[in-house]
Amino acid sequence: MNIYDLVLVNGQILDGCGNPWFWGDLAIQRGRIVEIAPPGTLHGRQTIDATGRYVAPGFIDIHTHSDLSILVNRQAESAVRQGVTTQVIGNCGLSPAPIEEAHLSEMCREWGSISDQPEVSWRWHSFEQYLRTLQDGGLGINIASLAGHGALRIATMGLDERAPTISELNRMKELIDEAMQAGAFGISSGLVYPPGCYASTDEIIALCMVVSHYHGMYASHIRGERETILEAVAEAICIGREAGVPVQISHNAPKYGAPCDASANLRLVEDARAIGLDVTVDNDVHTDLAPSLTDGLPQEIEDLPDNEIIAILRDPEKREAIRNEIVEDRRPAFGPVGLLKHGQWQRITMLHAPKSLDVIGKTLQVVANERGRDPFDAYFDLIIENGRDAEAIFDYIDDTNIRLLLQHPAVMISSDGQVLAPYGFLNDPIPYQPCSYGEFPGVLERYVRDEPVLSLQEAIRKMTSFPAQRLGLRDRGVLREGVWADIVIFNLERIHDRATNLYPHSYPFENYPHQYPEGIDYVFVNGVMVVGGEEHTGALPGKVLRHRNG
Ligand SMILES: [Zn+2]
Repeated sequence: MNIYDLVLVNGQILDGCGNPWFWGDLAIQRGRIVEIAPPGTLHGRQTIDATGRYVAPGFIDIHTHSDLSILVNRQAESAVRQGVTTQVIGNCGLSPAPIEEAHLSEMCREWGSISDQPEVSWRWHSFEQYLRTLQDGGLGINIASLAGHGALRIATMGLDERAPTISELNRMKELIDEAMQAGAFGISSGLVYPPGCYASTDEIIALCMVVSHYHGMYASHIRGERETILEAVAEAICIGREAGVPVQISHNAPKYGAPCDASANLRLVEDARAIGLDVTVDNDVHTDLAPSLTDGLPQEIEDLPDNEIIAILRDPEKREAIRNEIVEDRRPAFGPVGLLKHGQWQRITMLHAPKSLDVIGKTLQVVANERGRDPFDAYFDLIIENGRDAEAIFDYIDDTNIRLLLQHPAVMISSDGQVLAPYGFLNDPIPYQPCSYGEFPGVLERYVRDEPVLSLQEAIRKMTSFPAQRLGLRDRGVLREGVWADIVIFNLERIHDRATNLYPHSYPFENYPHQYPEGIDYVFVNGVMVVGGEEHTGALPGKVLRHRNG
């Protein structure tokens, strides 16, 4: 009889492939799953009784922005406590490598205040050096990385609003080639943010052709997720077809202002798949985002220092021009700006404004009424008073679209959040990102247990084997003998997301955005317990995963 290192006994095993659960014991030895057998048949030096709980593959979060926050919190607190064992970073066009010293300041500006943290040394240049920095300090979870098109562009030509010269484009091709050789899983683009919004379709195709050589993927925050969502989805599909790369359309819920519901963009994906193009989608289940108010300004202004932004907004003519630019939206701005464009001021709730404390918890419509100002002026005034520190919750996604996406077989579940922790820098100033704490438990609680939007096994498939397949990870995302033991044990009865607040909001919020969920009892990464009894063990068994380059 074999005595294994660790056996999880008497669990309801969900294999991650979409099959209903079965009763079983699961044995772990040297980091891998070595045997799965009927309950009561396996023996270990250590056993964990999983009676009354589900045993599933650890969740794979295919869309996050933890690139720097994982350096600040290597335990990956908010991720692993949700049951996440692998995160994909480098999304929406922004990765912290490669870097060219001449453009380091632009790179730091893109990342904001976290770039000044002592753990973020910026001592790397190449993608390989960055991946080594990640691995060397230890990680609570596994990390897979995309190379951001924006990072390649910044390293080559800063934030210039123009097309690259031939030699600049060649330099970007060299940089993506280096990143792919280092083990990047593909390239990402963010076509509503600088500098991605300055890039043509052809520029992205040229870079994706290099990625194609390594069988990597193209993940895109597409060029507009509202009025132009169908053209933008079509552009992403066209890039995949021309360059010969699989396409992942990121967080693809239509945002307020879109001409149609999610069935229209999903139909484009179905049509593409019907002719043999490998296009898949991910989505987050939150209806809100809490950016700085300055993020709603036109792209060429939003990245300026606060004092320059304030000076522009104090000039009545320039203020009028900006207002017109926001409403015209000729170069599509990111999703939440649709609420400004369409005057949906009652959907924007003030969250932070250190110099205007009386507005917190009120909508911009209420602030405008109280101040006797036009809402646009109230919005600009709050930026003048608080600079970048003015932050608001923009409720810009309809729950109907979230449900349509959840139910579609080609859509996986992602958080679009990042590693956070309710202590230290990542808690101060407090970013409002319930997705970073409650994405996966929230899906299981609200859309599986409380309402039958999708079955348990289908929800787990969308969190495990499906993203693993997209990434080409053949040894994770399922519970099978021989694969790495990335495992979550959860109690569906008890599962509770304590970070998410549903719209319409009442202030103060029912849930605090920095709270770990309940009901995620154990999490194992590469066979090592990282969460036990709902507490972090301090273990750092995570690995930097490298794409196998076909
Ligand atoms: Zn994005």
